Amino acid sequence: MSKRVVNKIVAFTLIIATAVFFQGTGNSYADIPKTTTPNPTISNAVVKTNEQVTNKQTTNKTNVKVNVKKISIDTVTRKSGTISVSWKKNKKANGYRIQYSNDKDFKNVKNKNVKSASKTKTKIAKVNKSKNYYVRVSAYVKKNNKKYYSEWSNVAEVIAWNTKWEFAKNSKIHTDSPTLYFSNAAKKKNKTVCVNAGHGTKGGESVKTLCHPDGSSKVTGGSTSQGAITATSINGGTTLADGTREATATLKLAMTVKKQLLKEGYNVLMVRESDDAQLDNIARTVFANNNADYHIALHYDSTSSNKGAFYISVPNNNKYRSMYPVSKNWKKHNNLGKNLVNGMRSAGVKIYGSGSMAIDLTQTSYSTIPSVDLEVGDKRSDHSSKTLKKIAIGIGKGLNKIK
Ligand SMILES: [Zn+2]
Repeated sequence: MSKRVVNKIVAFTLIIATAVFFQGTGNSYADIPKTTTPNPTISNAVVKTNEQVTNKQTTNKTNVKVNVKKISIDTVTRKSGTISVSWKKNKKANGYRIQYSNDKDFKNVKNKNVKSASKTKTKIAKVNKSKNYYVRVSAYVKKNNKKYYSEWSNVAEVIAWNTKWEFAKNSKIHTDSPTLYFSNAAKKKNKTVCVNAGHGTKGGESVKTLCHPDGSSKVTGGSTSQGAITATSINGGTTLADGTREATATLKLAMTVKKQLLKEGYNVLMVRESDDAQLDNIARTVFANNNADYHIALHYDSTSSNKGAFYISVPNNNKYRSMYPVSKNWKKHNNLGKNLVNGMRSAGVKIYGSGSMAIDLTQTSYSTIPSVDLEVGDKRSDHSSKTLKKIAIGIGKGLNKIK
């Protein structure tokens, strides 16, 4: 008879806690590790190994597993020394923690708590208008008197005007701040796209700025006539056939493009996210020049034929094309425009003729990065969410093709 061998089965239970990284300590945040990138992801998960004689899992009360789903920032905007922050709701959370700092690594960080899951916005008052602010948000769940935090959201940076920037002195309206949103996508493009919702600056029409940085005259007509030395710093835009203001339509499109590009891994610099941003065309261009890799301004043309989308190309005029900074960038502007129109065409957006029209624009005249005015349609063009999504996808496709 063979002897019965008793095998002792040792089960190893590996518990990987996905969100037990930070345990709340009341008002002290000394346990929060310093990060080195403006868009941190947490990789050092807590790993716990239990050696047991059965496969029955035991519960260790000091290591409660709490998964707190990460949230993302919706908008961060600064107006008159107050930063408004809004984010996506986490239904299972008990509240949110907002962090802000002048430092990209969140040194000397300040915290603000929102003690409600349904409240998804807050204001940070009395901020310094001449400084940049980095903002991030996390959700928390309370269990056994402890707070369990989610990973950080994507980071948003409010950018202050810098008088030392090239052409800064040519701008007359620049009291508001664009916001740079860092992508949280798994695959990052490491490129920043300035999305400029055309128009939307109250009082912009009563202020004049130089059409060209060197004071020379406009080589084509447009909203300002040929030969002009100065033009309105930014005009009010047109009104679409259904009564929607162009500035409202371009803002809705800009928000759609922002969402799409962040998803695709681009960082996005938003010139404005409200009806009024005190930033003239030169200020918008200077902000883009210094904080982005591409500048895309969104517009609807003032015709009423539903003629389709096109980009404003750089006029084929020797004097204009040899004027700095147009001289160094006009080929890049046209290349960006061509790619965007091709991308939109492949996404099913209606395109006007060959897809371009040559006009001497203030934006082009001051751009030191690839920069284009995209007329996505005209007064009769459909601007439903479905069409805006198509345009946004097309813009993403176009950017992805740029060499
Ligand atoms: Zn326009």
